[in-house]
Amino acid sequence: MHFWFVCNKCGKESPFNLKESKCDCGGTLLVEYDLERVSKTLTKERLKNRSTSMWRYSELLPVENEKNIVSLGEGWTPLVRMNQAEEKYPVKKLWIKREEQNPTGSFKSRGFSSAISIANEYGVSKVAVNSNGNAASALAAYASYAGMESHVFVPKDCPGLIVDECVQYGASTFLVNGLIHDAGKIIEDGKQEQGWYNVGTLKEPGRAEGKKTMGLELAEQFNWNLPDVIVYPTGGGSGVIGIWNAFQQLKQLGFIEGDLPRMVSVQELGCDPIVSAMENDSDFNSQTENVISKPTGMRVPNPPDGDLIVSILRETNGTAVTVSKEEIEQAQKTNGAQGISSSPEGAATWAGFTRLVEQGWIKEDDEVVLFNTSHAMKYLPWEATGTPTIKTYEDWKKVSENVLI
Ligand SMILES: *Cc1c(COP(=O)(O)O)cnc(C)c1O
Repeated sequence: MHFWFVCNKCGKESPFNLKESKCDCGGTLLVEYDLERVSKTLTKERLKNRSTSMWRYSELLPVENEKNIVSLGEGWTPLVRMNQAEEKYPVKKLWIKREEQNPTGSFKSRGFSSAISIANEYGVSKVAVNSNGNAASALAAYASYAGMESHVFVPKDCPGLIVDECVQYGASTFLVNGLIHDAGKIIEDGKQEQGWYNVGTLKEPGRAEGKKTMGLELAEQFNWNLPDVIVYPTGGGSGVIGIWNAFQQLKQLGFIEGDLPRMVSVQELGCDPIVSAMENDSDFNSQTENVISKPTGMRVPNPPDGDLIVSILRETNGTAVTVSKEEIEQAQKTNGAQGISSSPEGAATWAGFTRLVEQGWIKEDDEVVLFNTSHAMKYLPWEATGTPTIKTYEDWKKVSENVLI
């Protein structure tokens, strides 16, 4: 195999395996590639003629046999220059990366294209995920396209349209009386008995690798000269980790050089453990109470790899900001009035950007990219209908017989 695991803490190498993501020492297992071999076929020149999906970087994704790739055309999303805003704000250049253009309306498509391709390679037939919404609908779409059975568990206040989207993609869909980690517990409790392959955040190596393509793609779209600042709405953190990891690999391949962009995580008031660690200059701690923000991709009080996210922000001289619900709502309108449809998460990057400009953290000569991770439409008011609400795996056993898949 031309790829394997390496632990980000103790450095130990181990064979690639689809069901692991943590080292015995507590570190995260990142996928490392035989870059000498990769560089034989992955060249800047050859990239020019490749498919306009994230699989243009297939040498840097952990799938051995191309025929196992499960793709709905994800990636290679537009990067739009925000000319009007550049006149208004003291910033050199500003772009929005339009991740809402992905097949399932959010950047989550990338992670699931890769995770389901790996699952496909290993012959997995039943997949499950806990999610605040977009991961669930992405899993449902990719699993169905690959002919796998999918089981999704989302908090009961998840936006109704996304719940219905999961049902429509053919997933066995459950609302959970709790938060995303409560939903995850149901999967952990049931996975042995039900044969579910858990595709939850950082439970397996595929999703972070798929999200890595955002970094690869950004570098290529910038003609291998990276911007100064990247603003990302952070929840579980695999977006930030993936982008950072992409830059490391591109450096090793000699595609890019110099300082990495300053990475910024934006979170919403009411669930902001990453911001707390950055502001207190402390180690990462999960948020254990007062989780009162809306159910968006940023509402993850207990990200499995908070330490790594915080260390990436520090290493790149980045930062983290909290924005309020009101600021996010205002930013959705502002983005809309500039022609960009933004979900609360995507809009949060705009709110974070304006705050950092005010604070003077973003400067006149900075080139900045905001990640619009999903579009507004999926979050419109809608009561999800006909989807059962449960709390435990035992509840699931009771009601699952009545749910058609
Ligand atoms: C999941 C999600 C996020 C958070 O991304 P992480 O990689 O988990 O930090 C941000 N925005 C949207 C729209 C999401 O669905």
